[in-house]
Amino acid sequence: MAGFNQTVILDVVRRADSGLTRAQLARRTGLSAQTVTNATRRLLEQGLVREEGESSRPGPGRPGTLLHLDPSGRYAIGVHLDPAVMTFVILDLAGTPVAQSQMPTPVPEQPDQVVAGIVGAIEDLIASAEIDRSLLLGVGIATPGPIDVDRGVVLDPPHLPGWHGVPLRDDVASGTHLPVMLDKDTIAAASAHLWNPGVHRSAEFAFFYLGTGVALSLVIRDEVVRGVSGNAGESGHFVVDPTGPDCECGKRGCLGAVLRAEILVQQGLAAGVPLEVGDMTDPRDINLAFSALCAAADAGDVGAISVLETAGRRLGMASTVITDLCDLDTVIIGGPLWSRMERHAMPGLAKLVSEHHVPSGAHSIAVLGSPLGSQVGAVGAGCLVLSQAFTPRPSDLMLLA
Ligand SMILES: [Zn+2]
Repeated sequence: MAGFNQTVILDVVRRADSGLTRAQLARRTGLSAQTVTNATRRLLEQGLVREEGESSRPGPGRPGTLLHLDPSGRYAIGVHLDPAVMTFVILDLAGTPVAQSQMPTPVPEQPDQVVAGIVGAIEDLIASAEIDRSLLLGVGIATPGPIDVDRGVVLDPPHLPGWHGVPLRDDVASGTHLPVMLDKDTIAAASAHLWNPGVHRSAEFAFFYLGTGVALSLVIRDEVVRGVSGNAGESGHFVVDPTGPDCECGKRGCLGAVLRAEILVQQGLAAGVPLEVGDMTDPRDINLAFSALCAAADAGDVGAISVLETAGRRLGMASTVITDLCDLDTVIIGGPLWSRMERHAMPGLAKLVSEHHVPSGAHSIAVLGSPLGSQVGAVGAGCLVLSQAFTPRPSDLMLLA
C-alpha cells in the first residue's frame, strides 16, 4: 500500500487517538523532519491521512497541523466461513464495519457451491455499500482449521465434510479479482480484539471461540500465537467433565464434545425443552435448533437455562487451566454460538473463574464476552488484511534504498 517510512508513520497515526503533528511524528518514529514531511505528503496524496485541527500543546514555535487517519481512505473485506453460516463485513481503515451481511452456508459439503456463494456475496456487499473497488485492499477469509496458511488451502476440517485440500484463497481470488488472505477462524477472531481500540483487552489474553467447534487462541505480548503451521488453538479435547458425553477421540466430556451445539440441543431435549429439530447431521439445522434452545432459555425455560449454565461452568474450568498456565488476567469469549448463549452461560462461567484461586495471587481474572458478537470472525479476517497493510516490511525498505 505504501513504502516503509509511510507505513511506519501511518501505523503511528492510527494508534494516536487525537491526531499528531509532523513534529510529534518525527519524535515518535525517530525519522527526520524532512522524511516525515515527504512521507506525509504522499500519504495525503493517497488519501490515507487527512489534516484537521491544530496542536494546542504549549511550546516554542507555531502550533502544528494535526494529521489523522482517514478511515474512508481504504477498505478491507472480511469473510467468516462457518459450516452453518457465512458472515461478510467491509471494514474501513480504522477497522469499523461499514457494511455487513450474513447467509446460511450453501450446501456446506460442496466446496464449489460455497466458493460461488462467497464470491457472489462479496460482490453484492461491495455494490450495496457503493465502495470504489480501487479502494479495496483485499479480502480476508476466516475458516475452520486445519489449513495450510502458506498455500491458502483448507485441508480437511472435521466440521466441513467433503472438504479435502480446497484452494479457497486462490478460488476466491480468481472469482473476485481481489488479493485474498486465508487464516484459521480462531486466530482471525483473536486478531479482531487486537485491532479494535474500542474493545477492552489486556496485552495477554485467552480467547475462546465458540462456533461449530470450540477453539482457543492465546495472545501474548500483543501477538496471536500461531504455532509452527498456523494451526494453534485446538482445545476441543480438554476434558472438563469425565462423566460427560462420549467424544470422537475416545475420551468422555472433552470441551469440544460438551460445547457442541448438537450436544447442547440433545441435553435440552432430555431436559424436556420443547424444541423442533430437523436433520441433526446438517450444520444449518443444528444451528436453527440451537437458536431455539437459546430462545427457550430467554423465555424462561428452566431446562434450557440449566443446560446453558452448565456449559458456562465447563468453559470456566477450561479457562482457569489456561490462565494458570500462562499467567493471564483476561479471558474473552466470542463466536456465533456464544452471542446467543452468553446471557445464560456467563454468570456460571464468571463465578467459577472469580472463585478460582490464582496461584500467583498477584491479580484477578476478568472474563468478558466479545462485543463483536457473531461478526467476530469476519471482523477479524478483515483486520488481518488491514494489519498486513499497516505492517512495515523490510522488503519495502530494500525497494526504496
Ligand atoms: Zn475428545
